[in-house]
Amino acid sequence: MTRSEIMEAIKEHNVNFFRLQFVDIFGFMKNVSLPISQINKALDGMMMFDGSSIDGFVRINESDMYLKPDYNTFVVLPWRNKDGVNAARIICDVYKADGTPFIGCPRVNLKRVLAEAKDLGYTMNVGTECEFFLFQKDENRILSTRTNDVAGYFDVDPDDTGINCRREIIDTLEAMGFEVEASHHEVAEGQHEINFKYSDALTAADNTLTFKWVVRSIAAQHGFHATFMPKPVYGINGSGMHTNQSLFNLDGTNAFFDENGPLKLSTTAYHYIAGILKHARSFTAVTNPLVNSYKRLVPGYEAPVYVAWSGSNRSALVRIPSSRGLSTRTEVRSPDPSCNPYLALAMMLKSGLDGVVNKLAAPEPVNVDIYHMTQPEMDAAGVICLPANLHEAIEALKSNPLSKEALGDHIYTKYIAGKEKEWDDWRTAVTDWEINTYMKNF
Ligand code: GLN
Ligand code: MG
Ligand code: MG
Ligand code: MG
Repeated sequence: MTRSEIMEAIKEHNVNFFRLQFVDIFGFMKNVSLPISQINKALDGMMMFDGSSIDGFVRINESDMYLKPDYNTFVVLPWRNKDGVNAARIICDVYKADGTPFIGCPRVNLKRVLAEAKDLGYTMNVGTECEFFLFQKDENRILSTRTNDVAGYFDVDPDDTGINCRREIIDTLEAMGFEVEASHHEVAEGQHEINFKYSDALTAADNTLTFKWVVRSIAAQHGFHATFMPKPVYGINGSGMHTNQSLFNLDGTNAFFDENGPLKLSTTAYHYIAGILKHARSFTAVTNPLVNSYKRLVPGYEAPVYVAWSGSNRSALVRIPSSRGLSTRTEVRSPDPSCNPYLALAMMLKSGLDGVVNKLAAPEPVNVDIYHMTQPEMDAAGVICLPANLHEAIEALKSNPLSKEALGDHIYTKYIAGKEKEWDDWRTAVTDWEINTYMKNF
């Protein structure tokens, strides 16, 4: 979008409020809201904020930072329409006072890694599949894990008011320019998934961030609490963010497709898979960032536990969906929707590219249900486990030089510090489980 197109849209939709958005290191969307009188200053990238107030950004003595809007992300917010008066938003990169991009901004960092891919002759396309739960709030607006329905995978439950909510989420997304491809009830009660069309990696990260915001906002209007927490309820499926990814050549052809290759995949695709598997343990702290993330990555709930790939098997970390041609892609199934999509994509792209650049060989695919393999069978197939908890994941992240290259020094350091603190808080917390299991007998 050009600046004049934005000005026209503002007039046409009677926009009187304007939000500049950006994302912090831990994936939280931040925004500053401005009256329309400030629009020129905002579009010039002259809106200043205090970077030291954002977790993991900068120290107090270097705290003046600027928001540089990406005009392509301008969109009117359908649910903020009040009597015909509208609000709009633009996603921004964070810049330093000296006018250079701030490398601690996850969006700036992803652009850096995408530029490296481009130097190698590739662009990246991504489609994320975010699952989420709709939970009820009680009369006092206290959150619960009560769901509204007793439906399961692809079910239609006529009593499910969650479906009306999902429908309005989709209408809203479409009004914002999303191309929604499918939506369905997921395996667990109260669990849903909405799929929107893939795009270039930067747009996909922007869309994923926006998607989560829309889902939560519309759900709140329906009296629900929508959560992207990876495993909100013990004993039932958690929520994943399967990340479909492919490299394209600069001429617009899919670099993973080869009519004559094994499974119609190119050697580039095999190298990319090899890179993803090689680094899977170390990118997990980013793709699965919470203490709670590791309660999803256990056998029996369609979430991966082992580092392996397959042409079809859903217990593997990497699956190759059956479509070919332009849609040829790898589906990485470990990420969950609590991750920062900008950082997760930077880590996975860098991992895959390592495979491509160094021509790493992919291991043999594992086409049996890995949940049912014995340890000797796994050893024979060279199958290792994903980290079992956030602590192991942080250690794996730190042990791999690629992590720092993918995140940049600043984000790498601050991210680890934040996650180590989170682990320590959890490690020293006394949980309900411990009270229930131990107190009576000890
Ligand atoms: N909920 C599962 C996960 O955690 C995925 C289920 C599915 O999409 N088939 O990844
Ligand atoms: Mg899906
Ligand atoms: Mg799903
Ligand atoms: Mg999937």
